Amino acid sequence: MAWMKDTNGKFVSVNSQFCIQMGLERDDIIEKKDSDLIHDHKLSKKYESEDLEVLTTGIHKQFEDHLIDTKGNDRWFESFKIPLFDSNKNIIGLAGYSMEISDRKHNERFINTIINSLPNPVLVKNEKFEWIYVNNAFCNYFNVSAENFVGKTNDQIFAPSRVKYLLETELEVFNNGKTIEYEDSFPSSSGETLEYIIRKSLLINAKGERMLIGVITDITDRNKNIAALERNEQQLRNITDCIPGKVFQMELFHDNYPKFHFVSKGAYDIYELQPEEIIENAGLITAQIDPLDKISMITNSNEALENLANWEQEYRIQTPSGKIKWIRATAVPFKNKDDINIWTGVSIDITEKKLVEQELKKRTELLEIATKELNNLLTNNDFESAILSFLSSLGEKLITNRAYIFKNDNTEITETTSLIYEWVSEPHYKQLQFSELTKIPFSINACAWFYRKLKNGQVIQGTIDDFPSDEQPELIRQNIKSMILVPVFNKTGFWGFLGFDDCKESRVFTEAETYVLQATAASLGAFFDRKEYETELSTAKIKAEESEKLKTNFLANMSHELRTPLNGILGFANILRSELNSPDHIDIIDTIELSGNRLLETLNLILDLSTLESNQLTIKYQPFSITSIIQECAEVYTSKAASKGIIFQTHTAQHYHLLSDEKILKTVIKKLLDNALKYTKSGIIKLDVSHDTSDSINYLLIKVSDTGIGIKPEYHATIFEPFRQVSEGYTREYEGSGLGLSLAKKYINLLKGDIDLKSEPEKGSEFTIKIPGVIHDNQNDSNENLIQTHITQEISKLNILVVEDDFTNRKYLEMILKKRYNVSVADNGALAFLLAKNSKFDIILMDINLGREMNGVETTELIRTLDGYKDIPIAAVTANAMSGQRERLLNSGFTHYISKPFKKDDLLNLILNMISNS
Ligand code: ADP
Repeated sequence: MAWMKDTNGKFVSVNSQFCIQMGLERDDIIEKKDSDLIHDHKLSKKYESEDLEVLTTGIHKQFEDHLIDTKGNDRWFESFKIPLFDSNKNIIGLAGYSMEISDRKHNERFINTIINSLPNPVLVKNEKFEWIYVNNAFCNYFNVSAENFVGKTNDQIFAPSRVKYLLETELEVFNNGKTIEYEDSFPSSSGETLEYIIRKSLLINAKGERMLIGVITDITDRNKNIAALERNEQQLRNITDCIPGKVFQMELFHDNYPKFHFVSKGAYDIYELQPEEIIENAGLITAQIDPLDKISMITNSNEALENLANWEQEYRIQTPSGKIKWIRATAVPFKNKDDINIWTGVSIDITEKKLVEQELKKRTELLEIATKELNNLLTNNDFESAILSFLSSLGEKLITNRAYIFKNDNTEITETTSLIYEWVSEPHYKQLQFSELTKIPFSINACAWFYRKLKNGQVIQGTIDDFPSDEQPELIRQNIKSMILVPVFNKTGFWGFLGFDDCKESRVFTEAETYVLQATAASLGAFFDRKEYETELSTAKIKAEESEKLKTNFLANMSHELRTPLNGILGFANILRSELNSPDHIDIIDTIELSGNRLLETLNLILDLSTLESNQLTIKYQPFSITSIIQECAEVYTSKAASKGIIFQTHTAQHYHLLSDEKILKTVIKKLLDNALKYTKSGIIKLDVSHDTSDSINYLLIKVSDTGIGIKPEYHATIFEPFRQVSEGYTREYEGSGLGLSLAKKYINLLKGDIDLKSEPEKGSEFTIKIPGVIHDNQNDSNENLIQTHITQEISKLNILVVEDDFTNRKYLEMILKKRYNVSVADNGALAFLLAKNSKFDIILMDINLGREMNGVETTELIRTLDGYKDIPIAAVTANAMSGQRERLLNSGFTHYISKPFKKDDLLNLILNMISNS
């Protein structure tokens, strides 16, 4: 459509398209105004005001109009209105043309709708930097309405600082046609800061207008996440930096070469490398690892990877400054999304722990060796080899070349020390000659320092540079590079010292080594004390044995010397009794006999005790009847008790037989009965035999009880000790040696039994012999009676030869025997032999000690060679009652034995015995 109007707004000319569009004839249009033609009053007014603008400004202008046509369709038109001038440049009207832009407008609307529905905020500005469009997302994002922006320029909206940089960026877009993108932020109306990326690019529309379109992407959340992530990472870093050691994350390539993704600060303390250096070049770490450990590291890490298990590794490194360290690494592998093995773990420095461990191990091993060797010293009889083994074992364990012991020799004037034992690892390390190291005075300069320290209990150790300079030349002379000297103390003080030299290396001995050596030296001191004590002891023992031997010999001799005269005294007293009639004389004889018998008894007890104590008593185990012992006791003690007005009772539960030593048991029972009699004034003495089966062993119980003075409880133990009596000293009421019970107990102990005592003062005592070896037997004692009868029939036929050199004893024997038998006497061996050769004797009584000539044993041997004397009874008569004597004689051709002094009855009984056995 095209038209021309005059200054009054009347149409002057229109084209046919105008007429068609208006639906009018040209004539109906000319000279008419818009208001005449258009019913829409608002629209006609708009046209008129547009016209007026062009007519008054004289500038052409473009307008856009929107209307709804008769069919109700939205339609848009774009019109250009140009002022018309006459030759004088006066405005005479205007020309206009318009075209329908409904299609374009519809497209624009469509695009707007799309832009509006975009989630990203979008803005459009024109080349004048005016905001010409913002979408809904923009309004929502910044919480504004479109009117606040559209139609405005930056300076109307923003503060100058923002205006300035917006201008800079937007000019870039307009001038260079560049698309630019940057991060920006803006405070939202709620006070929150909105962070976003804005991408601005040039947009040229259909009309060729240049515009700027800005598309905003919100990054507030993303930034928040990133910030949170960074915070987390920082926290992690802070934490890992606090952990001692290296916290790491790494990737392990197939050749086991690592690439670190993360390394904490602590890495520096281990590897002397900054985390960044390690991340940059992992080779710096792998180069530090000891090649010996690398192989096991590879095997272990491969294994852990296969099982996705923990990897643990201890390895050594050498740091750039040359330090050797022990590291312990633990890590866990996992596969990341790209299927790469990522290891997360910690490496810590365990050098100190390792050193402590090694030190402890060393100490334990050293201690074990020291203990073993000290034990060997104590138990091995070969002392020399034990001490050398001690030195060599410790010397080798300490990796030294010499081990030695010096002993001090302290006299009142000088204090010196001498090398007494030495071990060397190789012969050429031998120290100076032993003689050179003997009696070195501590007073000489070089030694004074050593002496002072060692005497104070201090250990001297280290490399020779640590020693005072005047000591050094001597140490160098001995090739010593380092040494340790530990003082040895015994009960008297500073005894000497134990030393070790290292002739190869300069080193300091560890605390553990020093500690063990000190402990060893302490034991060594005690050991030498003990050794000295043992030497003293063995000397004392030899002396004691010698004096014991002397005592035994003395007793044997004394016994002989005392018994022989005593025999004579008692024998003659006995004979004298039958010859005397005066009661006074008989009293004297009684006293002689009593005293003599007491002397004899004491002599016997002392001899018995010494025999027992020198372990020379041989026990003869054989079965015997206990009943016969009881009968014998009954015979002896009934009358003895009766003479004191005391009743003697015996009782036995059954006829016991015992496998034990009859003689010993009888002696003990008699001793107890003697005591009962001695310490009882009135009442009853009982001998009671029973047995005790409560134990697994069958014991015979022989009880001797009395109603005598009794014994206070505090004496129950002491009375069994030798020479002990209840009443001792000047207050002694009863005679006696105090030996009987101690002997009795010793005897019974030898027979594996014991004696028990129950006693109450003034009420009485009960001694119980408990002895093993019971044989249950019901035999009666009729055999013994038979023997007695048999003996009496043969008495008168006997010829007896008495061989005795001592005149008194010869006479005594002759007097007893001549009333009953035919007696011949000989005072030496030769005569005896002659007599035997010429007459036939049934029995011979042979004294053993026959003075200077042949003794009794030799004489008997000779007589045995004579016809008819091979098996006849020959009794040895001797005053040597020492133990073993009887057995020896019975093995030397004698059939019987009697020790001097003997009583008449004893002799007669012997003769009866000899006949019955022959
Ligand atoms: P002793 O030769 O003195 O009798 P023992 O060794 O036989 O020596 O006895 C030691 C002491 O035990 C006696 O001195 C006496 O005090 C006491 N004793 C022994 N048996 C009895 C007893 N049956 N009654 C009272 N005291 C006794």
